[in-house]
Amino acid sequence: MIVILKQGISKEKVQEVCSWLESQNVKANPIYGQDTVIIGLVGDTSSIDMSTVEMNESVERVMKVQEPYKKANRKFHPDDSLIGGSGWQFGGNRILVIAGPCSVESEEQIVTLAEQVKESGATALRGGAYKPRTSPYAFQGLRAEGLMYLKKARDRTGLPVVSEITNLMHLDLFNEYVDVIQVGARNMQNFELLKELGRTGKVILLKRGFANTIEELLMSSEYIMSGGNEKVILCERGIRTFETSTRNTLDVSAIPMLKRLSHLPVIADPSHACGMAWMVEPLAKAAVAVGCDGLEIEVHNDPKHALSDGPQSLTPEAFDALMKKLKPVAAAVGREI
Ligand code: PEP
Ligand code: MN
Repeated sequence: MIVILKQGISKEKVQEVCSWLESQNVKANPIYGQDTVIIGLVGDTSSIDMSTVEMNESVERVMKVQEPYKKANRKFHPDDSLIGGSGWQFGGNRILVIAGPCSVESEEQIVTLAEQVKESGATALRGGAYKPRTSPYAFQGLRAEGLMYLKKARDRTGLPVVSEITNLMHLDLFNEYVDVIQVGARNMQNFELLKELGRTGKVILLKRGFANTIEELLMSSEYIMSGGNEKVILCERGIRTFETSTRNTLDVSAIPMLKRLSHLPVIADPSHACGMAWMVEPLAKAAVAVGCDGLEIEVHNDPKHALSDGPQSLTPEAFDALMKKLKPVAAAVGREI
């Protein structure tokens, strides 16, 4: 961090600012220029609040020279992290696919879909049990019952299961029934939830909020990791832009950017990004081409009658065809799927 002082500041004032900064456990090195004095801060500046420093009457401006995230930062961990369980590790050469319905609707539905997506090459099964819906009148999910059906599908197929948590009250249930706890876009900055997930041993799939920057996503991963749980997978799921012809705008550039900034695996969710089934294939191909480590794709046995997100859901047959079409794209960038 660099602190630029106001012009004409006396030496005493410079010393005062340096001592104040050093009381926050960093080394403050003043550099005297012709008209301006700048102070370079060396050490762990992550707990120093830039806006508080900027409020000091002698300070003109504060600049960051290092990213505020440490645990997720590739600078301190140059190799890609492999995150997952035995037989399903995100972040390696193989691109892993999480597939399944937006919502778990019945035991039969989820078990059958699990068998079908596994047959097509999916590595994990998704299914929402607690649904964060825009309208309180929309289907809210089967809740605990949904998690139990997911567990049955897991027992039947061996696929690890992914489901979204919306409330800390349900954490015991998630610990018991799911392999990967998804934090949805709407909860990416629910910091109390993130801190608590940092105390679990579960793999966390952290989705980018639709109005959040890449740095904010990484800071949210930092909340989980700094609590002791470094098993975080990042997900680009589309952001809100001025464009209205798609549900969101898949920020394709976020994928290579996140891979460059962080060692954590990065996956893409083309389904929520576009909101329509026909566009899932081109977006999934794009995500693979730019280096994603995985995909999360909504698949439903009967999209027209789905209780949530039917328009963006692929049929099992369309999913099977998509998996085949992704193979040459993955091969073209030296990956497997
Ligand atoms: C979902 O995966 O079903 C979901 C609600 O996703 P998001 O949080 O990205 O909207
Ligand atoms: Mn959905």
